[in-house]
Amino acid sequence: MQKIALIGLGASGLFALKELGNIEAEIHIFDVGPSYEKRYACPIDQGKLTVCPPKACSYCAPGQSAGSWNDFKVILSASPVIGGRLYDLIGEQELQTRLNKVRQTILTHAPVEIPIVKPDATDLEWIKRKATLANMTYHYQELLHCGSDNAPAINTSILDEIKANSSNLVFHFDSKVLNLNVKPDKFEVTFDRYKKPGEPNMLSFDYCIVSVGRGGSHWLTQQDFYKNLDIYPGQVDIGLRVETSCYFTEEVDRRFYEPKLYYRSQHANDIVRNFCSNPKGFVTPENHRDYVLVNGHSKMYEKSENNNFAVLVSKTFTRPFKNPQLYSQTIAKLVNMLAGGGPLVQRLGDLRAGRRTKTLSNNLIQPSLEAECGDIALAFPHRILASIIEYLDALDKICPGVASDATLLYAPECKSYPDSITVSKNMETTIPNLYIIGDSSSWTRGVGQAATSGILAGEGIKQKIAVKPNLIPVSIHPKSQHLA
Ligand SMILES: Cc1cc2nc3c(=O)[nH]c(=O)nc-3n(C[C@H](O)[C@H](O)[C@H](O)COP(=O)(O)OP(=O)(O)OC[C@H]3O[C@@H](n4cnc5c(N)ncnc54)[C@H](O)[C@@H]3O)c2cc1C
Repeated sequence: MQKIALIGLGASGLFALKELGNIEAEIHIFDVGPSYEKRYACPIDQGKLTVCPPKACSYCAPGQSAGSWNDFKVILSASPVIGGRLYDLIGEQELQTRLNKVRQTILTHAPVEIPIVKPDATDLEWIKRKATLANMTYHYQELLHCGSDNAPAINTSILDEIKANSSNLVFHFDSKVLNLNVKPDKFEVTFDRYKKPGEPNMLSFDYCIVSVGRGGSHWLTQQDFYKNLDIYPGQVDIGLRVETSCYFTEEVDRRFYEPKLYYRSQHANDIVRNFCSNPKGFVTPENHRDYVLVNGHSKMYEKSENNNFAVLVSKTFTRPFKNPQLYSQTIAKLVNMLAGGGPLVQRLGDLRAGRRTKTLSNNLIQPSLEAECGDIALAFPHRILASIIEYLDALDKICPGVASDATLLYAPECKSYPDSITVSKNMETTIPNLYIIGDSSSWTRGVGQAATSGILAGEGIKQKIAVKPNLIPVSIHPKSQHLA
């Protein structure tokens, strides 16, 4: 029987496994995290902790399937600009077909009815007019917001169904893959316990799917075979988490939940966009061990009076600079240094006036995350901040009040993406039988497309095992750098 290694059981790995569930092969699944039923809700949310633990925890760290356990918003539209770049790889129709499959799976396993947010013709006319007058571009999307509170049940139920239908799965939870060696016709996986390392083990496989997410992308670059892949440098997004009153945004929230609005800044000609809106949600720290970022999430039942969303400026670099991730991490660490180790928060009015925020005690918007008051301008490049302020001023024409002095800005919210890897339409790399899927391939930026890439890899392997075992893939170059 052929053997398949699946490294990483996050959003993409789970859907790859679902696709491969009853295949005639032995599948070994490796994940640093604990088994699904042992994955826990955020200790800060539960009131058990007030600050993040010193080590990144499995709730928020991107190496631990963050998005499908935290907030769990799934973009369901095949868009050329939102959620990843699979549109470029497989085209609109093929992408939409797989996204529909992802939607169906999630809805089938949801413990409660989850509404699909789908703007109607009146909403679309409304936003098109408003956005144009504000000099912004609206990008259509349908989405599913499962909420952090429903995420464990959905993921566990999908995995339970896969287990029930398959007898050839071997799970290695709490196991870190240390090395992946590519040998002629074989993949050697060396792994060890994550929490209490002992003697590493090694197993050989005929196929390998790497689905280690953004958190595992550094590990991927350290593997010997990595230099033999066809790669392009990735991009970074640098920005802030904005927290404002839910009353300022209620009309767009009601119509769209999260309208994707893009803006080209006059100051620097940079593309600025909103990302990850959380109406009535909470700002949360995102602990990466070396540095702490901010993020946001919302729940289906517990609500705040605020809305939070990210405003991000995307940057790509040209030679000689080759390390965009280091650039964004350096900015993040500078913010953390000023804040005594965590995020900074500043009122928009203070940022405009060039002064630090000293207290928020009488501020109209009360923070949902306790962060150090300070001056973000001491750490962030002026170019980025000027573009973000322009963005908020434009957004204020659609959501009056958003750009008021009392609006809170949290820093740093930085997203760095792995190098773009050339893959076939089934996510197979230029190394035959090696598939790299999800965010670690850089083709995806969210749960929906990550899951889709897993389906594509599963379909590809199924065709090979069933039909032509040694088929060499046709490779496609990643053409353009679209935004999530
Ligand atoms: C806080 C936060 C909130 C987010 N919210 C959303 C959201 O609401 N909606 C959305 O669409 N996107 C969201 N995202 C983005 C989303 O998490 C990713 O796009 C998505 O999870 C990518 O799926 P993936 O399978 O590529 O990686 P992941 O889901 O990150 O899974 C990677 C898996 O690989 C494992 N792993 C890594 N390295 C190793 C190793 N060496 N050995 C063994 N296992 C390993 C990890 O434990 C993890 O389980 C969020 C991200 C963060 C950080």
